[in-house]
Amino acid sequence: MLHYTCDSCGRSIESERYVARVEVAPAFDPEDLTEEDLDDDHLEQVAESLLELESTGDFVLDECEPRKFRFDLCPRCWKKYLADPLGRDAARRLNFSKN
Ligand SMILES: [Zn+2]
Repeated sequence: MLHYTCDSCGRSIESERYVARVEVAPAFDPEDLTEEDLDDDHLEQVAESLLELESTGDFVLDECEPRKFRFDLCPRCWKKYLADPLGRDAARRLNFSKN
């Protein structure tokens, strides 16, 4: 029998195993950007959201290749993941503890 451990808490998973598959990819082609696009507010939004992603360390702007992640999760971490897929609570806690 295959043995799995939870990718989040590291505990071994007895029977109830959950799998999260995440694919992260740019939703635009950087080669296709024109000057008109650069004037566009929506590009600014894209840039902002990319910066946000970059600040969490999950996304590097230079790497425009789609990235795929796969996590095995125990039932407890699965529930936590569903409640906060982007780990925003954890990011907020980190920001607070910096000072
Ligand atoms: Zn877990």
